[in-house]
Amino acid sequence: MDTKTLPADASGFAEAATLLRGGGLVAFPTETVYGLGADARQDHAVARIFEAKGRPRFNPLIVHVADVETAKRYVIWSDLADRIASAFWPGPLTLVLPLRPDSGLSPLVTAELPTLAIRVPAHPVAKALLAQFDGPVAAPSANPSGKISPTEAAHVRAGLTGRIEAVVDGGACDVGVESTILGLSDTPTLLRPGGLPVEALESAIGAPVAGRAENAPLTAPGQMTSHYAPGATVRLNATEISAEERLLGFGKVDGATLNLSPSGDLTEAAANLFHHLHQLDQDGDAPIAVSPIPETGLGLAINDRLKRAAAPRD
Ligand code: AMP
Ligand code: MG
Repeated sequence: MDTKTLPADASGFAEAATLLRGGGLVAFPTETVYGLGADARQDHAVARIFEAKGRPRFNPLIVHVADVETAKRYVIWSDLADRIASAFWPGPLTLVLPLRPDSGLSPLVTAELPTLAIRVPAHPVAKALLAQFDGPVAAPSANPSGKISPTEAAHVRAGLTGRIEAVVDGGACDVGVESTILGLSDTPTLLRPGGLPVEALESAIGAPVAGRAENAPLTAPGQMTSHYAPGATVRLNATEISAEERLLGFGKVDGATLNLSPSGDLTEAAANLFHHLHQLDQDGDAPIAVSPIPETGLGLAINDRLKRAAAPRD
């Protein structure tokens, strides 16, 4: 795939928005770092983020929107959220709020959490692109997993050329560190320190913010071993199934109740994964057997999620 460099002007924003609507990946500058954007409503596009970054697990992504009004379509808003957003949006602050049941977002975005991380960025290029696209953009940092976050278009190109449709070149990012993440679905809690100082948050809230232990890495509930396991037992690497089992297939297999990707495409499988697990869960409790999934590319994240579904229950 050819990775285009788009100019930060009306023609570049229009092309970037068209690529996003078509399920493409577009990197763009925010005031923190360059983000790797995809339409947060499209399963396949979001799956491609994990593929392009080589992420070994489906951790939740931050959704970027143009303004507070748009944010309210995806999260359950509150007075406190309103106060904080008026003070700091647009800006390097992400709020974690309850996900609206009618959000229409891909379950890959939240890694099946009941909450959503959302923010309104201040960078003029991010703002213009979001206004033009007029929808929710899921965007982690635009670097291969485990590498340094990019603060220039050239860094994005160095890491992701050939894996994404385009990068909008908006020069260097100002802040250079990730957004501060504030949990608001419960008591205000600092989930990640970042570009906005916690003291500024505390003076807006008028109370101390519960802090996590010094920069402790966030363990999202969706990453715990048997979280969101289906009611039925799950058996992996099944090449044959017994009479009572239901097969969650991958590739050319016979007798699958559902197939993650009949053609053996890992991106398609990732896009279908949460939907199929939920469907099987709804349809009954007969044991689930899953076809072998190759341990390459997106297969790592798919197998990580399936292993947790198959882990012994507490
Ligand atoms: P990045 O991938 O660098 O953009 O980082 C995204 C950060 O947001 C990670 O630390 C995630 O764990 C965190 N995050 C995203 N969604 C949620 C959520 N619903 N609840 C808590 N943390 C979240
Ligand atoms: Mg990152």
